[in-house]
Amino acid sequence: MNINYTDFYRMHKPLQKELAQCYENVFKHQWFIQGKELAQFEKAFAEYCGAGYCVGTGNGLDALRLILLAYDIGPGDEVIVPSNTFIATVLAISYVGATPVLVEPDIETLLISPALIEEKITNRTKAIMVVHLYGRMGDMEKIMPIAQKHNLKVFEDCAQAHGASIGGVKAGVWGDAGAFSFYPGKNLGALGDAGAIVTNDGQIAAKVRALGNYGSYTKYYHEYKGVNSRLDELQAAFLSVKLCHLDAWNEEREQIAKQYYQGIKNPKIAMPEYTENNVYHIFPILSADRERLQQYLKEKGIHTLIHYPIAIHLQKAYQDMGYVEGDYPLAEQICATELSLPLYPGMTDDEIQYIINCLNAF
Ligand SMILES: *Cc1c(COP(=O)(O)O)cnc(C)c1O
Repeated sequence: MNINYTDFYRMHKPLQKELAQCYENVFKHQWFIQGKELAQFEKAFAEYCGAGYCVGTGNGLDALRLILLAYDIGPGDEVIVPSNTFIATVLAISYVGATPVLVEPDIETLLISPALIEEKITNRTKAIMVVHLYGRMGDMEKIMPIAQKHNLKVFEDCAQAHGASIGGVKAGVWGDAGAFSFYPGKNLGALGDAGAIVTNDGQIAAKVRALGNYGSYTKYYHEYKGVNSRLDELQAAFLSVKLCHLDAWNEEREQIAKQYYQGIKNPKIAMPEYTENNVYHIFPILSADRERLQQYLKEKGIHTLIHYPIAIHLQKAYQDMGYVEGDYPLAEQICATELSLPLYPGMTDDEIQYIINCLNAF
């Protein structure tokens, strides 16, 4: 059997006609940037998240960056961020000139450890950037009171957690603002690059829109040295179609994950603690024998990925911060042992069972 790590075709094939119609509509109107397709998607996605406002951006990294700019976070400011995340979360902080302050995760949840946040707060700390990594919601019930106590903003990197929630409150609306990526591989993906922010603050939403449009609220009048980062009409139209299926896809992901949780029984393989607050963007397993396991699965036709092979503090891009191996041992441990299993809408029961059988025979 050959099982790819992901397969967009299975998700998109049933929607082929609807997606083609998006192109026809945009072509008919000959309006490509900031038109009614974007307005429609922003309204639908804000409603989906339970947020007052949604503003489209060019991608997820820009969504993070524009949130920080909108809150005037810059040089001299510190932002708390998990030591284990995709580099974009930390790059956004660096881009605005602020200092990322890394905090280790809990090894059971793989998410920022609320207990370790307070000791990293200084008089320069402006915000906590929570990352709902792998589709698992950060512990917002513990993090929000810490932020309130120290008068910090809370931002959420929701790039891997479209539709995840705690007690009915979705990712993106727990804190002051949430950033989403619609990179094709995300739970809600465009057919290209796209992103968005959600917030309940109308002024921040307007400022993000201005910052992403050359710093301008009114054409040719520029209040800020902004950037160009917009979600185009065609991608917005595709996203509106796909948003209608997000809950069903997330449900399908959950069913696959449940089979993994029930089926995988091998003492050489660990899985993070099961949680309801999870939309299973990625299914991570942990194994001390990761390289051999990945090779073994490959020989069985099962393709896996590593999220992520090198911790942020050991990346060449961050060598200027002077970190050395051992500074963030949990992030390093996850990088050394994590392996992501195939998990996507359209996977068959035979494929899932085959993966489980191979893992148990390792
Ligand atoms: C994908 C991702 C991003 C960046 O999104 P892009 O649209 O690729 O810029 C940011 N943070 C996390 C956690 C991600 O997984």
